Amino acid sequence: MLLSIITPCYNEEEALPYFLKAIRMESEKLLMELGLEIEIIFVDDGSRDRTMELLRAAAKEDRRVRYISFSRNFGKESAMYAGMEAALGECAVIMDADLQHPPVMLEEMYRAITEEGYDIAAARRVSRKGEPPVRSLFARLFYKLINKISKAEFVDGASDFRMLSRPAVDALLRLGEYNRFSKGIFGWIGFKTKWIPYENVERVAGETTWSFWKLLLYSLDGIIAFSTAPLAIASLMGLLFCLGAFVYFLYIVITTFLYGSPTSGFPTLVCLLLIVGGSIQLSLGIIGQYLAKAYLETKRRPIYIVRETERAVARTEGTVLCEK
Ligand code: UDP
Ligand code: MG
Repeated sequence: MLLSIITPCYNEEEALPYFLKAIRMESEKLLMELGLEIEIIFVDDGSRDRTMELLRAAAKEDRRVRYISFSRNFGKESAMYAGMEAALGECAVIMDADLQHPPVMLEEMYRAITEEGYDIAAARRVSRKGEPPVRSLFARLFYKLINKISKAEFVDGASDFRMLSRPAVDALLRLGEYNRFSKGIFGWIGFKTKWIPYENVERVAGETTWSFWKLLLYSLDGIIAFSTAPLAIASLMGLLFCLGAFVYFLYIVITTFLYGSPTSGFPTLVCLLLIVGGSIQLSLGIIGQYLAKAYLETKRRPIYIVRETERAVARTEGTVLCEK
C-alpha cells in the first residue's frame, strides 16, 4: 500500500528540514508496523525563498520525495488540489510544512480508514490555545453562521490535516471549481469521516502568512461559495423597506387628512433616504460578489500552472524513473 503525503509549501525554507526529518522518522515506523510505503508530494506555491532549492535537493537524494512547483503563488487551496491530482497512493493525506500537523497521527488515521471502515480521517483541534482571542471569536461566529445558511457541514476546529481514501480523493478531484474553499468542499462530498482530536501546536519555524484580514476575506469567500442565503437576505431586506415605506406613506396621508398636520420632517426624509440608499447599495454589493464569482468560474481558468516537477527535471537530466 502507498500513502501520498501532500504538503503545500509557501516560503517554508526554515521549516522544511524539520518537516523532512520528522516525516522520515515516522515513515520508518509506518513501514515496519503497517507495511505502508509513502511518497511525499511537495507543492511549492510560488515561494520566493530557498524552498525550491531544498526541494530539488531532497528529491535527488530521496526517491520518495516528489515536488510540483507553481509559476506563482496560487494559494493553499490550489496547492492541495494539485497535490491530490498528482497523488498515486491508495490513501492521501494533507499536511502543513510547519509541523503543526503532528505526524504521529498518521498511524491512527490510516488505521481508521483501513481497519475501521471510514473513508476520511480528519484531525480536529480541540482548543484554540495560542490564538488571538479576537480571531477565535470570529472563527466561532463564522462556523455558527455558515452552518445555519449552508447545506454542507462545517465542523469547528476541523483542520486541513486529513487522510482520504482513494474514492474520496477522486470525488474531491471532480469538484474542479475555481473558487475553492476546502472546508466546504470536504463537507460537501460527504463520506464517513472520523474526527480525531488534537491539541494545537505552535509552528516549528517561519511565520504564518494568514493575517486577520486574509482570514476574514477567506471566510466571506466560503460563505459565498457554499450558500446563496445572502442573496435571499438582500431581497428580503428590499421587501421590508418597501413595506415600511408603504406603511409610513399611509400614516402621513391619514394624519394629514385627520389632523391637517403639516408634513414636517426633513430629518425623517434624510433618515429614510440613507436607509433606503444604504440597503440598495448593500444588495447590489452582494449581487456583485456572486456575479464576480460566476464570472471567474465561466472563464474556466486552470486552478494552477506548473513550472517545474521532479519528473520533468529527471527526464531532462536523463535519470530513469519508474512510472507507475
Ligand atoms: N501555504 C501555501 N500557500 C499560501 C499560504 C500558505 O501553500 O499562499 C502553505 C504553508 O506553506 C503551510 C500551510 O499552507 O504549509 C499552512 O500555512 P500557515 O502555516 O501559514 O497557516 P496557519 O497554520 O497559520 O493556518
Ligand atoms: Mg501553520
